[in-house]
Amino acid sequence: MSNSLEFKTLGFIGLGAMGKPMLVHLANKLPPESRIFVFDVVEQSVDEVYAQFPNRVVKGKSARDVAEQDTIITMVPEGSHVRSVYLDPENGVCSTDISNKLLIDCSTIDTATSLAVKDHIKENFPSASFYDSPVSGGVVGAIKGTIAFFLGCAETDPNLKRLTHLASMMGKQIIPCGGPSLGLAAKLSNNYLSGVIAIACSEAFDMGMRSGLDPRTLAKVYAAGTAQNTIADKFCPVPHVYAEAPSTGGYKQGFKVQLMKKDIGLAVEMAKRVGSQNVLGEVGLATYDAASKDARCRDLDSRVVYRYLGGNEEWMSESTKNGE
Ligand code: NAD
Repeated sequence: MSNSLEFKTLGFIGLGAMGKPMLVHLANKLPPESRIFVFDVVEQSVDEVYAQFPNRVVKGKSARDVAEQDTIITMVPEGSHVRSVYLDPENGVCSTDISNKLLIDCSTIDTATSLAVKDHIKENFPSASFYDSPVSGGVVGAIKGTIAFFLGCAETDPNLKRLTHLASMMGKQIIPCGGPSLGLAAKLSNNYLSGVIAIACSEAFDMGMRSGLDPRTLAKVYAAGTAQNTIADKFCPVPHVYAEAPSTGGYKQGFKVQLMKKDIGLAVEMAKRVGSQNVLGEVGLATYDAASKDARCRDLDSRVVYRYLGGNEEWMSESTKNGE
């Protein structure tokens, strides 16, 4: 495998909400002679990025087509898609000779699928290197180039320099998590914690507000006390407490509630598989599942769980009306 940091030919599969802005950073930052071969099952997505970078992007017809390149990045929704992208016998990445290639899967999926793909590659193409590398920071982070990468490798991994160089064109923090599938384990445990905190935060604000407290006062109290956390500080589920929180903009920009449901589901599965006791998992999953199906919440930022739980979003206009 080449140790070069030039990345002359790159393949990118999955041009959705996250993949497209990640690709745009690569297209803007790779050396001028580099070419990026792209593929998505939605042809229009391929056409759009080609129209934006006609001298840089090459349209691929399948995952196999794209896999001819030295380095391949994948960013698709779920484990079933990752399986199909890599293992489809006719059009998958592994249906062509991928010896010596560097393969990076940035999708958030179950660790079992990731390890199955890795094992398949190790068995059939021992010189190829496959890494799980899920990301965090959302669509806004992907556009700004500030996402974090959780790499499924050790700090001593021989490819770490190349992986870091490539990831740093798309994001800010690159954290090697120790070994195969541990990037995913880290990401799922992070999202489990963040999702459960958002529910607890929504309930805590609601009980305080119903008792007569202004949510801005509550936010100050949590920040000064032992409950201090990033959800309350920067992603406050109650609108108009923090101006830049998705809630203040009608929960429109952010991490979709359906994705939180998916990740908590994967985390609960992982916890079961490794024998970790998980009292909040089932209730958290049921809450996000119901919120995902609720027409008032679907497709909105996951902190909309505050709305789902009956939180008051009009507190600001009500306190103005009361002359407070
Ligand atoms: P998305 O649905 O917007 O995009 C996924 C893309 O993959 C789509 O364009 C789809 O057509 C394509 N695709 C599906 N199957 C394919 C296949 N077999 N071959 C080629 N292309 C295929 O999803 P997204 O929001 O970009 O998320 C991608 C991954 O990143 C998910 O695992 C998600 O959990 C994770 N993630 C998302 C966010 C976020 O805020 N959206 C944040 C962090 C991580």
